[in-house]
Amino acid sequence: MIPLAVPNLAGREGEYLQQCISSTFVSTVGEFVGRFESMVAEASGAPHCVATSAGTTALHAGLVALGVKPGDLVICPSLTFIASANAISHAGAMPWLMDVSSESWTLDPAIVADCLDRDTRRTDDGLIHVPTGKRVSAIVAVFTLGCPVDMDPIVELARAYGLKVLVDGAAALGARYKGRLPGEIGADLVMYSFNGNKTVTAGGGGALVGHDEALMKLVRHLTTTARVGADYDHDMVGFNYRMTNLQAAVGCAQMENLAMFVAAKRRIAARYDAALADGISVHRFPDPDWAESACWFSGVYVPSLSPDQHAGIRARLREAGIDARPFWKPMHLQKPYAGAPLSGMDVTDAIWPHVLTLPCSTGLTEDEQEHVISNVKKELARADG
Ligand SMILES: *Cc1c(COP(=O)(O)O)cnc(C)c1O
Repeated sequence: MIPLAVPNLAGREGEYLQQCISSTFVSTVGEFVGRFESMVAEASGAPHCVATSAGTTALHAGLVALGVKPGDLVICPSLTFIASANAISHAGAMPWLMDVSSESWTLDPAIVADCLDRDTRRTDDGLIHVPTGKRVSAIVAVFTLGCPVDMDPIVELARAYGLKVLVDGAAALGARYKGRLPGEIGADLVMYSFNGNKTVTAGGGGALVGHDEALMKLVRHLTTTARVGADYDHDMVGFNYRMTNLQAAVGCAQMENLAMFVAAKRRIAARYDAALADGISVHRFPDPDWAESACWFSGVYVPSLSPDQHAGIRARLREAGIDARPFWKPMHLQKPYAGAPLSGMDVTDAIWPHVLTLPCSTGLTEDEQEHVISNVKKELARADG
């Protein structure tokens, strides 16, 4: 079976792990965590980084550090992995789900502007969402598939309405927005995930990067049980969200290959685009003017095929030894978020059932990709006829 996306462990992962074991530093103390944080900060264009146990826990701690309170609403695209919405819930808040732009499959600034203008009112207690009476405190901007959000207008809206901005850049290492790195686009915090299916993995793990030193100190404090001093003194309800040295050891070895991984992802995406996308019935994944996507996942968008036809194609590809998958089922169709306030969902509803994700591990060989391409071509022709 050619897998969808598996880790590429061809670097110094084993060597660094052995160093952890030989030194006995396998837990939350050890040199790799700090080294990993420096590497991630550097690759993000931001001065500060705090590594965490997962992307989801980074999002949770980030929202709390940004002042998101129980009962708040947090703007979030419906088209995302459920972790974005769950982290909002973990902070006691609720997502205000918004549709995405057809150009980028990310938050549409025009829709966000429209919803804020129509549904909110400024009060002494902050920005209030009139239909629910809840305070709106932040925007989670998700870089779908590693493709940047059109951030300039989002940051401008956030300033105008007094909202914080957290980028869910789970798979966005290597992406650029108008030539700028994720840490250089005006978000208060940027989160990454180092889960096993991301471009860079630490086995599991996450990170937050940012510019505001006081905010990043608070993030570090919150993720390390809010301990004061060396003994058992804690001044807040903190979290045990620290990354371990074992995870960071793998993460450091992976970061050494970041440029190679992103180049491989882009090469794989470009080959699928050239071989499969015709721009008429078969479309490539988004490539808006403002973005250099990190191309976390590759595949095609075939809106003319029904969800059943897509399921048939996936099943037959699987028989041919190819792991092809559907895309995120959006939040407004998920049981835990059925009651969340939402915008219209025309674009999201038109996208998600018609996406076919294809094998895109950085170790995918050209022969393997040719095998995938010829089978996908065959299936698309068959579905068309
Ligand atoms: C992977 C992912 C996450 C969650 O990261 P974990 O490290 O698995 O907790 C959050 N948001 C998006 C968009 C993701 O793709």
